[in-house]
Amino acid sequence: MTICGTFLELDLEKEQVELKSWEELFEEQLGRKKSVRELMGGFGRGLNYFALLQNSYDDFAELCAICTGFLTGHPHFGLPMTCCKTAVVFLSPVKRKGERYGISFANAGTNFGSEVKELGVDDIVIVGKAKQPVAILLDGTGETVAMELREFDPEAQVFDTLERIAADYTYETVCAVGPAAFKGVKFASAHFSTPLPGKKFGLPRAAARGGVGLVLGAKNIKVIGVKGVDEKFPKPRLGEEEKRLVVELNRGLAGAATEKYRCGGTWGGNFDFLLPAKSLPAYNHGKLLGEEAEEVNGLWRMKCEENGLKVEDEACSPCPIKCVKSVEASDGTLWRLDYEPVALMGCDTGIFDLDVVLKALRLANAYGLDVVSTGSVIAWYFEHNLRQGESPTFGDQHALLDLIKKIAVREGIGDVLAEGVKGASEKLGDVDIAMQVKGLETAGYPAWSNPGYAFAVRGMCHTSMETYNVAIGRPDKVHELEWWVATLKKGASDAMLVQSGGFCHFARKVILPALPALLELYTGVKTDKDEIDRSGLQTYILARAIDTVAGFDRTDDALPERAFRCGTTREWFELLKDRLYAELGFDTTGRVTTGTLKKHGLAEFARFLRLCG
Ligand code: SF4
Repeated sequence: MTICGTFLELDLEKEQVELKSWEELFEEQLGRKKSVRELMGGFGRGLNYFALLQNSYDDFAELCAICTGFLTGHPHFGLPMTCCKTAVVFLSPVKRKGERYGISFANAGTNFGSEVKELGVDDIVIVGKAKQPVAILLDGTGETVAMELREFDPEAQVFDTLERIAADYTYETVCAVGPAAFKGVKFASAHFSTPLPGKKFGLPRAAARGGVGLVLGAKNIKVIGVKGVDEKFPKPRLGEEEKRLVVELNRGLAGAATEKYRCGGTWGGNFDFLLPAKSLPAYNHGKLLGEEAEEVNGLWRMKCEENGLKVEDEACSPCPIKCVKSVEASDGTLWRLDYEPVALMGCDTGIFDLDVVLKALRLANAYGLDVVSTGSVIAWYFEHNLRQGESPTFGDQHALLDLIKKIAVREGIGDVLAEGVKGASEKLGDVDIAMQVKGLETAGYPAWSNPGYAFAVRGMCHTSMETYNVAIGRPDKVHELEWWVATLKKGASDAMLVQSGGFCHFARKVILPALPALLELYTGVKTDKDEIDRSGLQTYILARAIDTVAGFDRTDDALPERAFRCGTTREWFELLKDRLYAELGFDTTGRVTTGTLKKHGLAEFARFLRLCG
């Protein structure tokens, strides 16, 4: 087994920690044995805590769950590589409907999840709010797990916080937020330490999207440190044949299916894919660039390397893909270049100077900001100013760095931009150029080719609906209704499986087909592809049911104005909604009903969610 069946409940008001069984909790409340979706873990299991324990939807700080997947772990425990993901599940401050908030998640890949399992638990559920900003230190090296709360400076930047926790308290596996989380910035993020062989820390990884940092800040959590022991990790017993399967999978991870990410990283791989298709979004998604656009040369990896720039490969866990590509700026600033951050902080703001983009990314991470949302809100502001004949506008490098600081401390215009694109455009005007869905700023793929943005759990996000680039390579299919209905259904299921199992998004082509075999290997439960796919779709439906209770409906399944080009029309989009809702069993207003829950094998949640129909 690679799961413990237990979770830690941290009550910050009572300053108590309690070990509980999620298997018993779910069985008692739902009146049945654990399901495949719950075994998979991550976002899928995290939703159960919200369905069963959440009291209201108008306080995003009430509950927060840190959930591992059944594969979260380390190769030395017998797991495949790339299985380093942990999902934080929360009500998102940006996903707001009236006074209520919708469900979301943020995922990060480091050894944090593995260390959580070394406490002897699968998940950490946090209720209440600490009296002052604290570091929560969870020590599972003894028989039980002890919790200590230490007062901590909320203003400390992310990197200093990680160093101080390691130096003062000897915790090296840490999740921390920056000052932005305590200033009320809507898109504050959480950052996970990355121990590297021979160094104290590598570049931290962010659980970035949806305002997870603000949720932790609102609970007065500055840091969560975990320290466990190998013996408590629920280890699988693998025979020779099972070991061969894992070796085979690791070979696959180092093979053709991951070549794009291995060779170019997400940065290089996506530029090389989007530029020939004339689909690289830039200038607040106002333009789509191709190879002939000269400005892209400053950021296109091929050209950077021709200019002698040194790109180093790094992995965030034992991983043969090593998609993380680190680059050193002229002043010695070192940061990794992942596609979304480069696209939003660089191309979208009209800044194509790699040096400046590196500095901007490092700065935003130090303050604890989601770099994708930060780039997007600044891009919107630049275009808003261009329309008004004001400055700063696209390409202003000094303004980019200055605005990041102002947003993080909510100073001057930064106070407005800290509300995100939706809030800022509602206040200042120009909502028609606000690149957001359900309050979440855009990912780095064109909106016209992905109506899936409208239906994704997190909002305008590419990893909660696996449809972000399918139509770029299939222009013949872009407006084919039935193809989209099938693609969205599969895209929702696949995305939810990736966000639940504990493996990396970039390993999905190898791990997804192997899930039935892996689930049996590590949990003893026999299943098949159909049941796995059904459990992925159940996760999507349950998230949608929680959002229905929070008040979300058809009107929130929207696309930004810039999606309606290249032939995508509003009429077609409304037809797509009708067909998709019918296929998934929603009512015509896009709401989940008790009938929908029954159709998807989730009837036992009806009495907790109190839906109509
Ligand atoms: S593919 Fe990239 S993000 Fe995923 S585990 Fe490997 S190095 Fe980390």
